[in-house]
Formats: sequence, structure tokens, C-alpha cells
Amino acid sequence: MVRCTVMASLAFQASAAPARPCHAGWQAVLADAVRDPAELCRLLGLDRRVAAAAAQAAGSFPLLVPRTLLGRIRPSDPEDPLLVQVLPRPAERADVPGYRTDPLGEAQATCRPGLLWKYRGRCVMVATPRCAVHCRFCFRRHFPYHTSPQVLADWAPAFERIAADGSIHEVILSGGDPLALPDEELAQLARRLAEIPHLRRLRLHTRLPVMIPQRVTEELLGWIRGSRLTGIVVVHVNHPAEIDDAVAAALGRLVDAGIPVLNQAVLLRGVNDRVEVLAELCERLADLRVMPYYLHQLDRVAGTAHFEVPEATGVRLIEQLRARLPGYAVPRYVRERLGATSKVVLA
Ligand code: SF4
Repeated sequence: MVRCTVMASLAFQASAAPARPCHAGWQAVLADAVRDPAELCRLLGLDRRVAAAAAQAAGSFPLLVPRTLLGRIRPSDPEDPLLVQVLPRPAERADVPGYRTDPLGEAQATCRPGLLWKYRGRCVMVATPRCAVHCRFCFRRHFPYHTSPQVLADWAPAFERIAADGSIHEVILSGGDPLALPDEELAQLARRLAEIPHLRRLRLHTRLPVMIPQRVTEELLGWIRGSRLTGIVVVHVNHPAEIDDAVAAALGRLVDAGIPVLNQAVLLRGVNDRVEVLAELCERLADLRVMPYYLHQLDRVAGTAHFEVPEATGVRLIEQLRARLPGYAVPRYVRERLGATSKVVLA
């Protein structure tokens, strides 16, 4: 397993806080995530000043990095494209015009606690505030998670709303990361949704199989396959270095179980804004039978302006990808627009 080999090479830096062994269960890995910028910088051989800046920059969205990701990050490189996604930077504190806490109008789209309804035919359940990682560009970094249901019983108004509208055919479990919930709770949620006759599909938007590949357990595959609803898993990979052997195997387990797996990425400055990187990502995903589905333009969320890539650059990157890859391996380049009836396709 690549991660463990690299972790071994980092062991000299990590002696005070050894990484979990590769066979640890996913919940133990989740609980053991790095939360202290100083520890992260020590483990990755980064300067203490980087840690101090990160501690100041994190604000109300603290650092969270699973140890399973550490072996994929190049040590001693503050510009590593995986580190850039998770390390708080002083630029997050800049007040940039046009960047807001809720640029997608999710407060307005919330029709019942935890239930967002933006587009015809499908709605989103914010199933949990928890994630395996805190992505610094997250469009929900300011989301008021405390207003969403915490236990199954609290979802009753949402279930009633979905049941009352026969035009809703699909529910998207989102968060946070829905796979941060135990399988038992997810299976209960899925069972309750499957009782609504007009629902056909259950989509899971998750980064967990990529951050903590142990999350793809037999229990997970079992309840997804066992549901009357067609399960679809949408993972989130932004850079090919996120896919090590363990992640490839986890994605393979999902696909082998007959579950359609798609990827959505976000176009991020300093991470994947070069055609070589995007081409390698898309080819790697296609090799693993994961369809590159969307490349998202960054949502203008307060604290993320330093990640934005101009739309014209994104369009050019997609044109370059089309010249290199088969059509099915080129993602749709999209952005969300407040009030639009669907995502807007940019290229
Ligand atoms: S895993 Fe998803 S919800 Fe969680 S911080 Fe990252 S982008 Fe946001």
C-alpha cells in the first residue's frame, strides 16, 4: 500500500504521534485526524512559521486532515497540491468583494430543516456536519449545520415534504460528508426514503472513499445494493495524487458492487489549473471506471478567493482536454448561479 510505505519514510518526523496502522477501522481513522496545524507541519517537515500562520488563518473552520492523506502529500513542500487544499492560509482572512458566506442562496433554498430544494426532480439532505477533511475552498464552510436534523426522528418534516411532491425522483445525501455517518444510520435513512413510492434514486456526495478508503466497507456496499433505490456515488477528487493504491481499490470495490461512481472536481488555483494535471486526473479516473462528471468553477464563498481560476482559463483547459482525451473522459465545466434552474455549463 503506497500510503504506508510513504508513512514509513515520514516516521522519523512522526515519532511523537505515530500514524494509525493501515488496518485501523474507518471510524478510528476519522477520530484520529490531525487537528493541530503545528502537528501537521511537524509531520510534513514544514516550517513552524507555516503552522503559526495556519493557526491564525483557520478561524471558525478549523484544520482537519486524516492521517491517511499524509502519505500522499510531498514532505517539506508548502505548495504541494494536496496540502494547498487543506492548509489554512492567511489569504482566507481577506475580505474580497463578491465573496459571501452563502453565495448559492442555500438559506433560501432550505424548505425544511436540513432539506435543500434548488432544482426540479431532486433535493438535497444535509445529513451531517462532519467530514473526513476540511477543504479550505468548501462552499459550505459557513453553513449553519446546527439548524439541520441531528437524529432520524428530526427528519420527519423533510420526509413529509418529499412524500408530498411526486415530482421528486432523487434525493442527494450531502453534508458535510454523509459517509461520516455510521452505516446503520445511513441504512435507516435509506429505508425511510425507500418507503416514499415516487423516489427512484439515492445519490451520495462524498469525499470519504478518497480521504479514508477504509470507509468502503461490506456494510456500506450491502445497504446501498440492498435498497430499492438506485444508489449513485459521486466522489470528489481534484488532483491525481489523491488516488493511491488504497483509494483505487476502494473505488474498485464500489464499481465492482455495480454502483455507478462519478467524480466531481473543483477547479483550483495551484492545484489543478494545468491541462497536464487535469488530463492525468481524468485518465486515472477513467482507468478506474469512475466517470469524470463535473469540473466546478469555484463558488464565491468568503475565504476562498485565492483559489479562483478565471472562467476563460477554465474554458481553455476544457478545450485542451478535448484535444487530448476521449469525450467520455472530459468533464462538464459548470458553475452554480443563484436562481438558475440547473447548473450552468461553461464548456
Ligand atoms: S469534504 Fe466536502 S463538505 Fe467536507 S469540507 Fe470538503 S468539500 Fe466541504
